[in-house]
Amino acid sequence: MNSTSYIELSREAYQNNLDFLRSYIKKGTRISSVVKGNAYGHGIDDFVPMAESMGIDHFSVNSADEALEVLKARTNPKTEIMIMGFIANEDLSWAIENEISFFVFEFDRVRTAIEIARSTGKKARIHIELETGMNRTGFDQEEITRLIPLIKENRDKLEIEGLCTHYAGAESIANYLRVEEQKRDFKQMAELLAEHDIIPKMKHTCCSAASIRLPDMHEDMVRIGILQYGFWPSREIFIEYLKGKKDKTEPLRRLISWKSSVMSVKKVEMGEFVGYGTTYLAQRDMKIAIVPIGYSHGFSRSLSNTGRVLINGFRVPVVGMVNMNNMAIDVSELEQVKKGDEVTLIGKSGDVEISVASFGELSDQLNYELLTRLPTKIPRIIN
Ligand SMILES: *Cc1c(COP(=O)(O)O)cnc(C)c1O
Repeated sequence: MNSTSYIELSREAYQNNLDFLRSYIKKGTRISSVVKGNAYGHGIDDFVPMAESMGIDHFSVNSADEALEVLKARTNPKTEIMIMGFIANEDLSWAIENEISFFVFEFDRVRTAIEIARSTGKKARIHIELETGMNRTGFDQEEITRLIPLIKENRDKLEIEGLCTHYAGAESIANYLRVEEQKRDFKQMAELLAEHDIIPKMKHTCCSAASIRLPDMHEDMVRIGILQYGFWPSREIFIEYLKGKKDKTEPLRRLISWKSSVMSVKKVEMGEFVGYGTTYLAQRDMKIAIVPIGYSHGFSRSLSNTGRVLINGFRVPVVGMVNMNNMAIDVSELEQVKKGDEVTLIGKSGDVEISVASFGELSDQLNYELLTRLPTKIPRIIN
């Protein structure tokens, strides 16, 4: 059955981004590909095997259910999976059984993991997350002093896979001091653990923004989400990267395109309203095209009367309210528009391009949100 839209992923663009990341990131530092939120909307099922074919052998997800998706999608049984956030205690034995590593940031999870390891004889692979200022998850200084004896007593049940933290706002230079303090605290706590002979296989602290801004913190692994998909974590980080570079060309390429097609074309007379309610009044005789995409497909209602899409190489406005399953676009200026014409919601058409953020002159932070809202059920195609 045909879908009302489909998402295309470009292999070439991904290879380009990986080449860039590998040249930028310290030699010997491993890249963990962050694929939470259905691979930032790109689709875990298709994205994971493509990334594996380009040498990625480590994936990070937020929760156990996402880990299961990666486990099913991976083509190489040696590909590693790491859970950074939620795992219900009932699912911990599944994770341990499948050699999936996970962050620990509170005592209950550590104790439960030790219990499971004791009863199954299979070591739990843990990443000790340190609280350094994000104030989300992680052991603080006081808790670490209590964690040390617990780990020492259970060495045979735990694989200390990692020692990690997450920076609070590395995408903004205004947070410079806070991030510096986090770096200092991470190093101090890592030293304290080392004094007690708790030495992780890998240290990892950097997300995309921190990987660009803090090259001295690349350590053994970086956790790269948004950059690998060809988006900058913020405008500031992009400027920071370009500063002092002779070559000012954009090193990244977007993987994703999102395409639909015209369902019908109609004329609207001057003085008529378009769509539900009275938000759009035709100021002249118009021609509009109906596109079978609405907010149920991830095209936000807030883009009503403000969004833009591409058709036949032109950028045209959304008129009226975005409905659950449809929206109208103004094609009055275009001579030949007909049923079946391709409509680009994200990506290129002819010489024009629509990035996710320019959905509606929105801020870059919204890239994350708009991408992850793309429904799983839209078919993904790799080309
Ligand atoms: C989401 C996340 C990342 C990746 O963030 P990007 O900005 O997309 O690179 C890294 N680490 C943790 C703990 C995360 O939650």
